[in-house]
Amino acid sequence: MWIKKSEKQLQIDNMNKKKKAIKYGLWTVVVLLLIQILKDKYIGPGGMRGMDLEKPLAWVDIYDNLFFYFVLAIFFGYIIYLYEAKAKSTTVVCDNCGKVGNKGKNLTCECGGNYSDIDLMKWVDE
Ligand SMILES: [Zn+2]
Repeated sequence: MWIKKSEKQLQIDNMNKKKKAIKYGLWTVVVLLLIQILKDKYIGPGGMRGMDLEKPLAWVDIYDNLFFYFVLAIFFGYIIYLYEAKAKSTTVVCDNCGKVGNKGKNLTCECGGNYSDIDLMKWVDE
């Protein structure tokens, strides 16, 4: 049956969620940095046709751009972090019969029980 998680369990869940969000954010930064560097090194930054920007950059130019790459990567990494840290489950579960549903206007189950956020509940064997 489904029971409400303890305060302590919820705190642990919260911490794990934050850790996961930080991990995802950091990975985003690393991956974006690599993509930007590799793209500029082997394809070029893009831009108007016929301009130098269409050509791959030399390592020295890449080095000059590092700060810019970092700012962009950290910006997107931060967005991913915020998104992950705030992400909420859209699943609810009835505290009476255990029926699982989607979060909607209906907060009461057909059986008369109340729907709770599944993140706040845990399954225990009876
Ligand atoms: Zn129910």
